[in-house]
Amino acid sequence: MSSDSINQGLIQGLPPGLDHPFYKKVQTDFDDIAQIINLDPNIRTRLRFPAKMLGVSVPVRLDNGQVKLYHGYRVQHSSTLGPCKGGTRFNPHVSMGEVAALAMLMTWKCALVGLPLGGAKGGVAVNPNELSRTELQKLTRRYTSEIINFIGPDVDSPGPDMGTNEQVMAWMLDTYSIHKGSTYNSVVTGKPIDVGGSLARRESTGMGVVFTIEEAASKIDMRIDSKTRVTVQGSGNVGGIAAHILYKKGCKILAISDIAGSFYNKNGLNMDHVMDYIKLHHSLKGYPDADVISKEEFFALETDVLILAATENQLTEDLAKTVKCRIIAEGANSPTTTEADLFLSRERPDIFIIPDILCNAGGVTVSYFGWVQGLQNLFWSEAEIIEKLRHIMVKAFNEIYRTAERNKFNMRTAALATGIDKVGKAMLLRGLYP
Ligand code: NAD
Repeated sequence: MSSDSINQGLIQGLPPGLDHPFYKKVQTDFDDIAQIINLDPNIRTRLRFPAKMLGVSVPVRLDNGQVKLYHGYRVQHSSTLGPCKGGTRFNPHVSMGEVAALAMLMTWKCALVGLPLGGAKGGVAVNPNELSRTELQKLTRRYTSEIINFIGPDVDSPGPDMGTNEQVMAWMLDTYSIHKGSTYNSVVTGKPIDVGGSLARRESTGMGVVFTIEEAASKIDMRIDSKTRVTVQGSGNVGGIAAHILYKKGCKILAISDIAGSFYNKNGLNMDHVMDYIKLHHSLKGYPDADVISKEEFFALETDVLILAATENQLTEDLAKTVKCRIIAEGANSPTTTEADLFLSRERPDIFIIPDILCNAGGVTVSYFGWVQGLQNLFWSEAEIIEKLRHIMVKAFNEIYRTAERNKFNMRTAALATGIDKVGKAMLLRGLYP
């Protein structure tokens, strides 16, 4: 049987849950890149799908005595380069397909920044804001105990993602450790510093976003200074922190948005105040020193850097036609639709797009540092971590930039090609078992 017929034979049908638009999108992107880099067909067949998928039921007794059932997932896409790593998302839209898509992106992301890790992702379909602290803790602990034999420091270590935070990671660490009879610091990353978390993890994704923006700016002779205007979609861990760092560098943050709306101040927002407001109100809703504008107005603002740091599929083709910026930084995973991406690469080559798997790789990089520190029980200083992060992000950016220049790829193609090629080469070296 030829490699192609093996390939054809295995791709018929989709495992349950993978018939999902986001999964199909990342799978199609993978197929396109596999074609471009001429990836071995057998490797291609395997990497189109996750290695392992787990779906669990998570019953939780709510404060009112009622038991509510939530659905949880953990997916490991590939452990070719090392143990799996990936965030934990608590969001009503979480599904097997979404988690599997994000796990695949994690594989390419870890590979392209050179981490000895594979890609995973997990989550529960829940709106965490609707739960009390006690309910959230019960949900986290029950979810962890349901996936307990699927994860572990040498196998797959979850970190935070949308809707989860350091406290959730501490509960996951505690639940795992109690079951296993010893404290396993490296079973999760992104936990509080007081229980073995890494310094700078909370800021790391936003910091990485800023490092890549600085590199992109240097390639197009743009300065990051007080004249630089920035608009940011999403004011959470990624968007809020990236905006705050750029504000501290003197940039003018023209507008920032969250699920409650977009907040604009033509003179620039005071990000110290914005961050304090979010901390207090858990949302930008009612923020006083700004005008509320529509999503369409937000995307059409004249700016220098547009940071997409909310969620998937936010920049649609219609909105892409209105953007007026020099750099788009994809802090979120897959924030640009396929149609918008095609439009931008065809019609707006003047916009420098920093693709998600490069732009937001700072988070998994410092998660990796956290994992290493936990395994060694030896902790590094914040300055050391930030310097190591900068080094990795700048190196990865320039490797991808050179690949793009050499092959006349755009940055997204170059980033995916770099990550996929590294995983493919490692798979060929390791061979197929048995
Ligand atoms: P978060 O929950 O802290 O913040 C998300 C923000 O986006 C919130 O302000 C929320 O209100 C806003 N938002 C959500 N939907 C929106 C919408 N439709 N319109 C406008 N705003 C909206 O999440 P986060 O950790 O900042 O993650 C944001 C994105 O970055 C996600 O795609 C996540 O997968 C990705 N990411 C996060 C990390 C990390 O370390 N946290 C690492 C890599 C990638």
